Order: sequence, then C-alpha cells, then structure tokens
Amino acid sequence: MKSSDVVLVTGAGGFIGGHLVSHLLSRGFTRVVAVDCKEIQDWYQIAPNARTLQRDLRDRDACLEVTEGVDHVFNLAADMGGMGFIETHKAECMLSVLINTHMLMAAREHGVKRFLYTSSACVYNGEKQVRPDVTALREEDAYPAMPEDGYGWEKLFSERMCRHFTEDFGIPTRVVRYHNVYGPNGTYDGGREKAPAAICRKVIEAKLSGRHEIEIWGDGEQTRSFMYIDDCLKGTLALMESGFGEPINLGSDQLVTINQLVDMVEDIAGIKLKRRYKLDAPKGVRGRNSDNTLIKQVLGWAPDIRLEDGLAKTYAWIYDQMAGERTFPLELAPRALAATGTAD
Ligand code: NAD
Repeated sequence: MKSSDVVLVTGAGGFIGGHLVSHLLSRGFTRVVAVDCKEIQDWYQIAPNARTLQRDLRDRDACLEVTEGVDHVFNLAADMGGMGFIETHKAECMLSVLINTHMLMAAREHGVKRFLYTSSACVYNGEKQVRPDVTALREEDAYPAMPEDGYGWEKLFSERMCRHFTEDFGIPTRVVRYHNVYGPNGTYDGGREKAPAAICRKVIEAKLSGRHEIEIWGDGEQTRSFMYIDDCLKGTLALMESGFGEPINLGSDQLVTINQLVDMVEDIAGIKLKRRYKLDAPKGVRGRNSDNTLIKQVLGWAPDIRLEDGLAKTYAWIYDQMAGERTFPLELAPRALAATGTAD
C-alpha cells in the first residue's frame, strides 16, 4: 500500500473503524475515505483529514458510489454488538450479508486492489468451546461448521464469499477473525457493549453511586481472551499488506475468566464490589481462546499490550465519559468535531 493510495474504511463511525481511520492518517495515508450509516455527530471519532460520508452500505448503489476510485477496502461495517445483542437480534446480524455482498460486488466492478473483511471468533464450532479451560481455537476449527447462530453464520458465509470472489473473479481478499477487541472510543452502554466495556461501566456506576454491587452475566467462570485496540490495528494493517489470503485469527491468547476481568477492573477503580450472578443472562460459549500459531508464523505478530494496561486506559476513557469530563486529545473528540469533518 502506498500512502497516496485511496483507502476506504467502512464502519468508520464505530469502535475499530474509527481507530483505523486515525491510525491510517497517522501512518501517512492522505486519501482516506470513512463511511458509516450513523449520523456523523454520533461517530466515536471524526478525523478532519478524512473524507467522511454517511451511507447505508446495505444499498448496492451506495457501495458502488463509495468504492469508485478506491484502491484498498477495509470492510468493517456490520450490525453487531456483544452477546446481549447478538443472541437477541439474529436477523439483524444476518442482514449484514447485504453489506458484504454489495461491497464485494462493487469492489469487483471498480477493480479494487485489496479487500479486507473483518470476521469473528464467532465463526468457530460451538462444540469446541464447551469448557472454561478450552483448547485455543486454530483456524481449521471453524469446520465442520457450527458457528454462533445468526451473527456467526453470517460471518462464516461472508468469509466464503471472499474466498470465492478471489478464486472466481481474482479480487485479492484478506479475512481477519477478531477475538474480543476492546479500548477507548467504543460502545459502553445501550445494549451493544461487550464484556470489558460493560464491566468498566458497571464498576464506575458502583463507584460513582456508592452502591458497591455489580451484576455479572452467568457464573463468571466463562473464559475469553481480550485484545487491546492498538494490537488489533497493527495486526489488521500487517495482514492487509501481506500476501496471505486465508482466514486468520487476530486476538490475544491470554485466557481469563470474567471473574478475573472484574478483579482487574476493581483493582483499577480501587474498590471491591459485592457480586450478583445473573445466571439466565446471555453468556455465549463457555470458553474461547485464540491460537496464534499461524499469525506468528505468517506475520510475526503477537499482542504487546497487557490486559491490565489496556483495561486501565479503557476504564479511564469510560470514566471520563460518565463523569462528564473530556480529557482525551481534541483530534479524537467525538461529536465536537462533526462540523470540521468533510461530510457531505
Ligand atoms: P461497531 O459496532 O463499533 O462498528 C460497526 C459500525 O458499522 C457501526 O458504526 C455501524 O453504524 C456501522 N454499520 C452498521 N450497519 C451499517 C450499514 N448498513 N452501512 C454502513 N455502516 C454500517 O463494531 P466494531 O467493534 O468496531 O467492529 C468492527 C468489525 O469488526 C465488525 O465487522 C465486527 O463484526 C468485527 N468484530 C469486532 C469484534 C470486537 O470485539 N469489537 C470482534 C469480532 C469481530
């Protein structure tokens, strides 16, 4: 990728997409196009130097419009959220197939040079994730297929579409399977938030209200791994620039229980809370971890940021939002810069 290439990021109003746009600009890319269906004032980050567009990419014409003249596509747009959302909005999750279908068709029509698709660890076979001390998932564990219902099936189908667009139409595709990404400038309330942000919010609520209690979904012994956004950005760009066209894990391989995650956030907040376990809440699989053998081999990538350190930054950002302060750098300020983005 050359810094003068035109790079499109879809889902740019969301968590990872917003960071990716800032990261590309900081790496010297000068022609970045940022697209999302959300009202621009609701984007988490608005980069003044990117071309910023509000478009619904389920629509084929919108996909054709935004890909015109584009060299590289990072296709992140998806209707998604944490377990609370994906277990109760399966049809909405599956409708993201319209985005991926129309984006691939448009990329083909305009001769896009590279197309990266953000898949998920939710593609993995549920039967391999039934114990907290789960064996880390290798890329081949997606088959035989038994992914997360709704969201995971859509991701797996779209992965295969990428494969066949490469084989049949010659479009180079990259497919990254993210495992739980977290960090500042993402969803922390409203129902779409994921575990690290939700736990930070609940601990902050307890601290600010003086009601020293926390509700935990499930028994807290379910396990996951969590990757900080900076590690995610490095891996995503390295994959795009590589010659590797098969689906690949991008995640941390440090397995923790949800109870351990709560311990860490309590330490950051300097409080101890009484735990109430909501056993009938959406919990997802019992255990999930990323096997990073392939990505180490192919890209030499491994996560750098310790969970405690990434959580401290995430906690601080959420705390600032909730306490009504704005201490993050001006160029990252959500909403306030809406007027300076090159929106049309
Ligand atoms: P996010 O919800 O913060 O961002 C997704 C963005 O896509 C949102 O801003 C949303 O408005 C936008 N979008 C939805 N429908 C659209 C449409 N029709 N047209 C245009 N934009 C649309 O999510 P995120 O965490 O930034 O995730 C980015 C990508 O990574 C998604 O594809 C997601 O499935 C994948 N992923 C994320 C994680 C994670 O832990 N965050 C894990 C696995 C996979």
